Amino acid sequence: MIKVYFDGACSENGRMDADTGIGYWAHDEDTDKELFRVSEYGGKGTNNTAEYKALIKALEKLIELGVSGKRIIVQGDSQLVIKQVFGGWKCNHDHLIKLRDQAWGLIERLGGAIKGEWIPREQNAVADSLSKEGIKKGESMTSEMVVIDMGDGIFKVTSGSSGKSYAVDLNNKVCSCPDNQYRKNECKHLRYIKHKYASGAVSV
Ligand SMILES: [Zn+2]
Repeated sequence: MIKVYFDGACSENGRMDADTGIGYWAHDEDTDKELFRVSEYGGKGTNNTAEYKALIKALEKLIELGVSGKRIIVQGDSQLVIKQVFGGWKCNHDHLIKLRDQAWGLIERLGGAIKGEWIPREQNAVADSLSKEGIKKGESMTSEMVVIDMGDGIFKVTSGSSGKSYAVDLNNKVCSCPDNQYRKNECKHLRYIKHKYASGAVSV
């Protein structure tokens, strides 16, 4: 039997254009071998689209490895994805219906001996951290951020994609962007500056 774990994460949940990350890994219980362990950038989306993409990628990987016919248990901590794909829950959003149908197609190709099982987040720690790493991969990939060091731990950050500029105060760990100001998230600008300058001349 093969056990597959998947998880999705996103930087700003509730927004369609948040950076997402996906993580998935699989273990062959019969041979006690790990089959794969993957952390990837999931593109722009929501937590739900990231969860779906993680499942889809994991299923694609199983097909690639040629494990069809084996007993497979897919485990994730997303109630929504597990129930919509394996449990007959209704899916009311077009973008999720597309992803669900994609998952169904892959399950069919794998021979159908697949069970889906919801597990609590604590039991999905590996996939969880893989998915969080995946967000960062995307940020470094798409980080055409232009940074000007204004001194005293203040940085002017201009996003390459939107062209908008924000001020990051590294010492107080705040940023002037809406994500940090209103939603109180550690935004991508702050993460970027911390990552890039935290070990440099500026003390954090
Ligand atoms: Zn920001």
